[in-house]
Amino acid sequence: MAKQWIDRADVVLRADGQRVADLDTSSTPGFDGGKREGKELLAERAQVLSVLQEKLFAHGRTGGQRSVLLILQGMDTAGKGGIVRHVIGSVDPQGVDHASFGVPTDEEKQHDFLWRIRKRLPAHGQIGVFDRSQYEDVLVVRVHDLVPQAEWEQRYDQINAFEKQAADAGTVIVKVAMFVSLDEQKNRLRQRLERPDKYWKFSPADITERAYWPEYQKAYQAVLDRTNTDYAPWYVLPSDHKWYARLAVTELLIGALSTLKLDWPPANFDIAEQLRRLDES
Ligand code: AMP
Ligand code: MG
Repeated sequence: MAKQWIDRADVVLRADGQRVADLDTSSTPGFDGGKREGKELLAERAQVLSVLQEKLFAHGRTGGQRSVLLILQGMDTAGKGGIVRHVIGSVDPQGVDHASFGVPTDEEKQHDFLWRIRKRLPAHGQIGVFDRSQYEDVLVVRVHDLVPQAEWEQRYDQINAFEKQAADAGTVIVKVAMFVSLDEQKNRLRQRLERPDKYWKFSPADITERAYWPEYQKAYQAVLDRTNTDYAPWYVLPSDHKWYARLAVTELLIGALSTLKLDWPPANFDIAEQLRRLDES
C-alpha cells in the first residue's frame, strides 16, 4: 500500500484564516512523502475517485439530483489544466462537464456576470469543472478596474447567493485556489517560451500580469475572506509541486463525493425473472 495522508486534505487546506501572502507555495500540507510516494498514492486514489464518480453518474441516470462542482482558480501556470488532465482525466468523460471561462464574449457582455456561469452548472449526476469562474469578475476585473468598484463590491454577496442556490439544489461545491511562487511561475513561463509543445499556452499578457502580483494577492485574499462559506468552501492549494496539487484535488473530490453517501442504484426489475428470460433467449 502507498504512503497515506497524515491529515485530511479538506481540513489542512480549508481556507479559514488563511493569509495568501504568507502561504508557502512549496509546502505539502497533510502529506509528508515526496514526489514518488505522492504519485503512487495518486494512482491508488484515482481508482477510488473513479468508482465514486461512476456512482454519481448512475445515481443521476436513475433520477438522482446530486452533482459536484469543482471550481479552479489560479494565476496563469498555476496548474489548472494539469488538474483537468490528470485528476479529472482519471474518471469517465461522459460524467464530466468541463467549462473554461475567458475574456467575456460580446454576447456574454450583454448579460450580468453570472449568466454564462449559470448556464454551465453541472446537470444531475455530473462533475462540473470550472477552469476559471465567476471569481474572475472579482479578480482580474478588480485588479484592472474593468468595472467601477461600486459594482464589483456587490459581487461577493451575489456570488454567495448564487452558490447557496446551487448548493440547495443539490450541487456539492468545492473551490480550489491554486498558488505558485513568482519564481516557479517564471520557470513555468520560461518553459512555455523554450518548448515548442508549450508555445500555445503562452500569452504575452502573462508576463504583464506578473507585475500585478501584489494586487492579485489582495484580490484573492478578499475572495477567501468574503466567499468562504460552509455550503461552498474554499481550499488553498500550494501548487509549486504539481504532483501534490493533483493528489490534493483528488482527495478533495473523494471527500465531496463521499458526503453524498451514494450506493449503486438498486435493480428496478426482477433479477430472477430477467435471468430466466435471458436463459430462454
Ligand atoms: P486562459 O485561462 O489562459 O485561457 O486565459 C483566460 C483569460 O481570460 C485570463 O487572462 C482571464 O483573466 C481572462 N478572463 C476570464 N474571465 C474574465 C472576465 N470576467 N473579465 C475579464 N477577463 C477575464
Ligand atoms: Mg493562460
